[in-house]
Amino acid sequence: MTWTLVTLLALFLLCWRWAYVQWIRPARHFRREVARLASGDTRPVVAAPGAPLFREAYRNLNHLADRLQEVTLQATHESLNLRAILGSMVEGVLIVDRSGRILLANDALLGMFRIEGSIADRSMMEVFRDVEIRRALEEALKVTEPVALYFSKEISGDSGLETRHYEMSAVELRPNPQTLPTGVLAVIHEVTSTRVLESLRRDLVVNVSHELRTPLSIIKGYVETLLDGAIDDPKLARRFLKIMHKHGERLDLLIADLLTLSRLESGNPRLHLEPVDLTRCLQIVTERMELRLNERGTKLTIDFPPDLPEVEADVHRLDQVFTNLLDNAIKYTSKSESRVTVSARRENDTVIIRIADNGPGVPLQDQPHLFERFYRVQKDRSRDAGGTGLGLSIVKHILLLHHGSVWLESRPGEGAAFHFRLPITQPSEEPARVSTPRPGRVADSPDAGS
Ligand code: ADP
Repeated sequence: MTWTLVTLLALFLLCWRWAYVQWIRPARHFRREVARLASGDTRPVVAAPGAPLFREAYRNLNHLADRLQEVTLQATHESLNLRAILGSMVEGVLIVDRSGRILLANDALLGMFRIEGSIADRSMMEVFRDVEIRRALEEALKVTEPVALYFSKEISGDSGLETRHYEMSAVELRPNPQTLPTGVLAVIHEVTSTRVLESLRRDLVVNVSHELRTPLSIIKGYVETLLDGAIDDPKLARRFLKIMHKHGERLDLLIADLLTLSRLESGNPRLHLEPVDLTRCLQIVTERMELRLNERGTKLTIDFPPDLPEVEADVHRLDQVFTNLLDNAIKYTSKSESRVTVSARRENDTVIIRIADNGPGVPLQDQPHLFERFYRVQKDRSRDAGGTGLGLSIVKHILLLHHGSVWLESRPGEGAAFHFRLPITQPSEEPARVSTPRPGRVADSPDAGS
């Protein structure tokens, strides 16, 4: 009896040992390996010895681990690619869910709206505070085609609040056509510069039309008067023809200045750079202006140091700079005792030229606008003196193309001193591109007509 019990116990222990080695231990190991895979650890599964059934299961589990590794790798690549694409886009990209919570915003979007830090998980309304944008995004959830929106926002920039213009296109995100959209993808472009250019073009057309119309209508008026009989009075006819000639010349000057400006503003203004002797360049200009200087009785003083270095520049363009500034100085100096001084000095690797007169100077409120196209302080006076309102704008463009600058120092009533700075040598890269000019002002006082 005792032997039988011992034999049974031994048999039981043997069976249990066999079951433990073949089934229980491999099953526990298998469970642990599955849990490891489930937690995202996709390293290959190590098989534990056990029943033949486990060998098959481990093989399959290893296939699963390999596949999981591939999918994870692919997902990582795709996410990296997506991040690289979103990061290199100039357009802002925004993804919001159905409730308006931001799921994704790329760097361009944050830069466009000057947002610092991440905005993921925040409410779209809280970030943009714009009902129009919210409505457009809600609309995109209801329709299948993209919803377009133009909107403007006040963004705080380097020079205070600036109005920026944007164009947005929003489309629903619907991974499964059978279900409701999960959110909206919006792509936003900043179109401020396009809008500014459009408004500049409009202003230019208004300004040019106005400037051309004035002399043309004067010429037309005199032609009509001549045809109505004034032609029979030779003295009167001669006077009218002289006036017409003067306005014809103004038209000619205006068109020449407009062409010059347009060439300077074009992408390829073709500067012929060479060493320029500024003293010689100024001498040529003053010789050409001698008659005008004498007519006005202007006393011209030139104060150039003998060791003034040559500058690398386009001599024809520098001639235009000197001509425009000197012409203005002569035009606007005091009539009784007209004095103009041109001086030069070297400062580090640049040369600074100063053209000063003893005229009325420029009122403080006009000074920031003086280099804009068609800006005139005294419109009638400038026109009477044959001015087109484009001279200083041309000067500014020429100097910018030479990597230089121009500025005015003037105390009203105490004359004006225009300064310009030129580098002695030009940087080796392309000539500087001239930035978009500020819109000019529409001249608003029609000519007197004489
Ligand atoms: P304009 O052909 O009318 O002279 P500019 O662009 O050369 O046009 O000059 C713009 C305006 O700046 C002029 O109309 C004039 O009112 C003012 N201005 C230019 N130079 C002087 C100066 N030396 N003194 C006073 N005002 C000046």
